[in-house]
Amino acid sequence: YIKWAVSSGEALVGDSKSGGARPVKFGDIAILLRTFTSHEVYESALRRSGAPYQVVKGRGFYDSQEIKDISNLLSFLDYSADTLAFVSVLRSPLAGLSDGALLALCVGAKGDRLDPAQFIRPGAPLPLFDLKEDTQRFETFRDRLSQWRAARDRMTISELIETIISQTGYGAVMTSRFNGEQYLGNIFKLIELARTFEMDGARGLKNFIVRLKAMIAKEPGEAKADISGGDEDVVRIMTIHQSKGLEFPVVIIADIASSIKSQAGKIMFHPEEGLGLQHYDLVSGKWYAGPIFRSGAERAKSEQTQELKRLLYVAMTRARDRLVLSGAAKRKGVWQNWIDETIEEAGLSDKVATFQKPAMPDMPSSRIGAPPLVDRLLKGYRPDTSSSGKLAPLPPGIPSMQISVTSLASFSLCPRLYYYRHVMEAPMIDHTKAFSFPSNDEQSRRETGIRVHEVLEQTQIGEGAPKNALKDAVDEKFPDFSRKIKSDVLKNLITAFGKPPLSALRLAPPGAIMREVSFAHKIVEKQMELIIQGAADIVWLDGNGWSLVDYKYSTRPKDERGYLFQLKLYAYAMMTAHKMESLNTAVVYLREKKDSVSTMRFLPIDAPDLRDRVVNMARRLLKLEKKPECEWPMRERKSCDEYECLFRSRCYER
Ligand code: SF4
Repeated sequence: YIKWAVSSGEALVGDSKSGGARPVKFGDIAILLRTFTSHEVYESALRRSGAPYQVVKGRGFYDSQEIKDISNLLSFLDYSADTLAFVSVLRSPLAGLSDGALLALCVGAKGDRLDPAQFIRPGAPLPLFDLKEDTQRFETFRDRLSQWRAARDRMTISELIETIISQTGYGAVMTSRFNGEQYLGNIFKLIELARTFEMDGARGLKNFIVRLKAMIAKEPGEAKADISGGDEDVVRIMTIHQSKGLEFPVVIIADIASSIKSQAGKIMFHPEEGLGLQHYDLVSGKWYAGPIFRSGAERAKSEQTQELKRLLYVAMTRARDRLVLSGAAKRKGVWQNWIDETIEEAGLSDKVATFQKPAMPDMPSSRIGAPPLVDRLLKGYRPDTSSSGKLAPLPPGIPSMQISVTSLASFSLCPRLYYYRHVMEAPMIDHTKAFSFPSNDEQSRRETGIRVHEVLEQTQIGEGAPKNALKDAVDEKFPDFSRKIKSDVLKNLITAFGKPPLSALRLAPPGAIMREVSFAHKIVEKQMELIIQGAADIVWLDGNGWSLVDYKYSTRPKDERGYLFQLKLYAYAMMTAHKMESLNTAVVYLREKKDSVSTMRFLPIDAPDLRDRVVNMARRLLKLEKKPECEWPMRERKSCDEYECLFRSRCYER
């Protein structure tokens, strides 16, 4: 809707200057949420559509990772036996050690617990780390630690924090993450707090840490630094509570289909009814609610209902010109029911129209060429617009080819396969059931795969993600599937996210995780221009650097060369566009029980060969393009069987 509203140019909102109507700008739009728990889903959708946005005053300044990281380092500088602070700092971008290095430190520790003193003395022997970078990072970190220690009594606390940020490049790392301005804003806010603390006459690192820790424990609701300029042309995401007193030309109320959470548990407390319990009946084996529990629960529910009605009223009255109600089409929650009832009672049913998604104009070319999130990388990581990623007009007569990563991967396996899949778009026919079209089972498998991708695209993952996020998303995306399919999907996803590489995501800050990262990479060769397009399933940045994972909802195929080639292309395009030094890549087969991951580390040194290969393939493809089916080269029958190609009946058994 947002993309359509802004790009359609229709005069949808009032213009206070002319008194008439004018087109919508991003800055006219506010998305109002009941709570902040699911704001990531909306952020992700806005990112994918290329709409600029701003999360307004997210909660939890003291609870944010950057504040905890710095607080841990200050604690450790003040008290060097604080093992928890030590380990937390080592794992944070302030030191950037990997999990493997932390494990090696623990295993290498004398006695039965990790003693920081054993390792932080300059020159003290270190355990053997698997990664060479970990040794360098640890040595650099402990050198800096001694400098900060020596300086802490000569500097003010704000100066000490500034020195730490600048020496470790922490600000740069945080800015490179998605929503990096917010992280940086929080760091500046902390420095300001340290200044205020000192100006108030308070002294000493220890006192500051005590105050900071007390704030972290007590005031998770402190607003994050406000980084909005107020009149920027960005979509605002905020809670309904935050929107009180404000008005916007276009208001979108999100998730009107969500339901009220019932009071779970066996104990309930209501300030006026008192403490109510459920008791367990040994004879019937059931739980029974006592009278206080029942009346307390009823009152709590009615109060919650009233509060929700008030909240809906507040949200709806924030809209000046347009009010958009958005929610899951197949589910009806409490708000949606009220809205439907009200519309019906008021006899307005014939006035209500459902927004039909119109055909979208193409993304402006300036946005193609770099994943929108990675765009935010710092200097040195910015896309090289001089050679790749930038779309410029071509001289006449020079062919330009746009091709997807999956098409190139098919072509790499077999030109004929490419022709069937991407030119003819022929149905895959199971060779063992020659001339039969896809069975219900197969269609349902494909549909399952598509929905699994939707689940993984939209579920909040990473540090702080709700415990049941995956389960809730599977329930939502598979409403009409059997319980068995749902439970299999959930089991497979939980298993995959419980082991590397996806398990690393549990500790990654949500802002450092990007889903469905689309890209277009341009290769300019003599007499040809080639644009490769694709979307990587998931990309993130943590202490081990950049990682990219492509997942397939399947078991491991016998011949996975196509998938590995696809992975190489993703890595090549991402690394070239963003001058990354290395990228850990993996394809994860979500239905594979054991050995479900194929990993590949792509290095810049691998890039020229791959580029040549791609260019040769493109040249071949250009030559073949207009040829009839029979002239497209085939593979040998033996290798088609090994690959279990589903076009064998077409190629060989006519
Ligand atoms: S059967 Fe063999 S030759 Fe035919 S499309 Fe498949 S891989 Fe290519």
